[in-house]
Amino acid sequence: MRRALRNGASDRELSHVLARTRRDFLREAAGVAVGSALFRPAWARAAAAQRKRKVVVVTFGGGARDQETFMQEGQENIPHLMRELIPRASFFTQVVNQGILGHYVATASLATGVYETFNNFAAVSPEWPTVFEYFRKDLKRPSSDAWVVAPSNGFNRIGESSHRSYGSGLGARVILPKRLLTAATSGSGHDYQHLLRDNYETPYYAPELAGSEFELQQLEMLLKVSVDDFKSHAQTLTSPDELSVYIARRLMRQVAPSLLWITLHDIDVAHAGAYSLYVEGIRRTDRLCSELWHAIQEEPEYAGQTTLFVLPDFGRDSDEDAGGNGFQHHRTGDVLSRTTWMLASGPGIRENVVFDRAVDSRDLVPTLGAILGFHASLAQGKPIDEVV
Ligand SMILES: [Zn+2]
Repeated sequence: MRRALRNGASDRELSHVLARTRRDFLREAAGVAVGSALFRPAWARAAAAQRKRKVVVVTFGGGARDQETFMQEGQENIPHLMRELIPRASFFTQVVNQGILGHYVATASLATGVYETFNNFAAVSPEWPTVFEYFRKDLKRPSSDAWVVAPSNGFNRIGESSHRSYGSGLGARVILPKRLLTAATSGSGHDYQHLLRDNYETPYYAPELAGSEFELQQLEMLLKVSVDDFKSHAQTLTSPDELSVYIARRLMRQVAPSLLWITLHDIDVAHAGAYSLYVEGIRRTDRLCSELWHAIQEEPEYAGQTTLFVLPDFGRDSDEDAGGNGFQHHRTGDVLSRTTWMLASGPGIRENVVFDRAVDSRDLVPTLGAILGFHASLAQGKPIDEVV
């Protein structure tokens, strides 16, 4: 397939070929139908108007290639997506990201619906209003109703932009599980080093934290878990993403925010160059997505009224580009690293269907607005008709 992708076609054509290939693999493996933008039944639209609607967004871990996921040889790494989630979801095979391929800036772009241009390794807020600000301001929701669980201390400002019409006091609350664990182990965290590694690209970048990040005493007050229980539970976990999902599940149980954004990141260990760790990261991410889906079905506050979105922030380089090093990095900005996917599952959303038209990364925020009932006035994408 890769060779065929290279024969003089434009980026747009390449990205479409990739999407069709992804669709064909899914049709063969899971027997999904190919969808068109049909009108949805009235009951589905009525359900969408319910005030108790919730949304959980999960970013799929820092970028994986199709070879290790949706292509035939990769599907064994994503059994939960293939067998549990995709059969219950609308799946978009062509989500194109034209922004900067750094994890913080790309995740911020997903959360604002604008391609943010700030330095990925700087402790800054997004420039444009985040989905959390639109949600809270338009719907007059308290800060407890919008939360981000983020993998790296570098994400501590993702909940709130610096935009003058939004910003201050209107954002999401951000939990940084690694910071929580550092605080809980008060510097003697040698048993937890495997959970504390902060990012996989620049080990020396560790921003000073300031602002509205989660405080340790809230572990007990808010999440209802004692510091000792938290520490002993953390010892059973194998990765930072497992720690994040543990925290996210406590948050769902105790606070039940209507808008919850969980950024997974283990797959990005690929930067270290070990293929086996990268694949292990994909398999773990697949399992954690399933755990979150099950948590949604089991928690009374979420069951039956929650839409789950799963999407990568972006992909990784192809093997063929000399500038890329294959799975290891995302440096070249080639079509493969920019063409990702998204699944959406929840009340009123068609199941077991694949759409291969091009969707833009910036379409997510307006889509969440259409589902939850707010207007993302400065976002540049548009609502994805097939799921709103
Ligand atoms: Zn990376």
